[in-house]
Amino acid sequence: MTETPTVPPLFGTLAVIGPGLIGSSILRRAQRDGTIARELVACDIDPAVRQRVTELGIADRVEADPLRAAADADCVILCVPVGAIATVGAQILPVMKPGAILSEVGSTKQSIINAIAPALRPDIPFVPTHPMAGTEYSGPDAGFATLFDDRWCLLTPLEDTDPAATALMETMWHRLGARTRIMDPAHHDRVCAIVSHLPHLLAFTICGTADDLADETRSEVLDFAASGFRDFTRIAASDPVMWRDIFLNNREALLEMLARFMEDAQAMARAIRWGDEDFIVDRIERGRHIRRSLLENRQA
Ligand code: NAP
Repeated sequence: MTETPTVPPLFGTLAVIGPGLIGSSILRRAQRDGTIARELVACDIDPAVRQRVTELGIADRVEADPLRAAADADCVILCVPVGAIATVGAQILPVMKPGAILSEVGSTKQSIINAIAPALRPDIPFVPTHPMAGTEYSGPDAGFATLFDDRWCLLTPLEDTDPAATALMETMWHRLGARTRIMDPAHHDRVCAIVSHLPHLLAFTICGTADDLADETRSEVLDFAASGFRDFTRIAASDPVMWRDIFLNNREALLEMLARFMEDAQAMARAIRWGDEDFIVDRIERGRHIRRSLLENRQA
């Protein structure tokens, strides 16, 4: 049940399209907090997801048709996979109320902005966002109300996005528990390529490499998986459709970061080959330093 809010809700109706891990976490927190919207609407193409959202009771209304979900909403947040965001956005934009805000939470930004641009309306501010929070699980059961606590949410408004709408979305993310930063979309894509997309690429690849080994070795990998490999398998358990879309939609930045990584990995290989102890120790110390910084910033 929604608690009695101490401040007025930001929106009359908030619609979340795609109540999976991210979307259902928004709904759960909004429901618990009560200061985000008076009415929460969830919409999903998957009947099983709609059924589950109804059972969980995390929305006041559950819709199958995105047009019905969007028509009355003061804010619509698209929480579907990156490859579907522009399509769903273009579908709902014509029925949205003038002045309502359109937002999305995709893990890439530039390609979504380019794809949705022809459908945008001058009377509907578009505020792309990316909460830097998640787990390897997906679907409505994977969400939880504290997912965004202390995490960053990056906002990449367009040049002509009404600053008042961006400010409103920042307030919403603060109420969801997150810290916010406004960023240029291309810069966002480069940052995320190194801190999120490349690590996932490496995790999928190392698991594939281990799996390609001979049967005997593979069983040893699984039997004696040490924490390093286990950590990679956790990341590699992520949703295939979501990560396919992210890789293909952040192609250039990801390939650039991969090329830089491969050069650095070659340098490490060379140091190992020639016994360059100082180089090896320097690289490991840099890694330890980064881990300490994350812990200090409560991002670990
Ligand atoms: P998720 O758990 O798989 O949820 C996505 C939901 O959207 C699913 O229920 C899916 O239904 C539904 N859906 C797919 N296409 C749809 C459409 N055309 N119309 C309506 N619903 C549709 O995914 P997630 O992890 O929450 O990710 C959602 C978005 O957040 C993605 O864009 C992702 O890049 C971004 N994001 C994810 C993370 C993370 O760590 N997971 C972090 C930050 C941002 P089905 O069950 O039929 O697929």
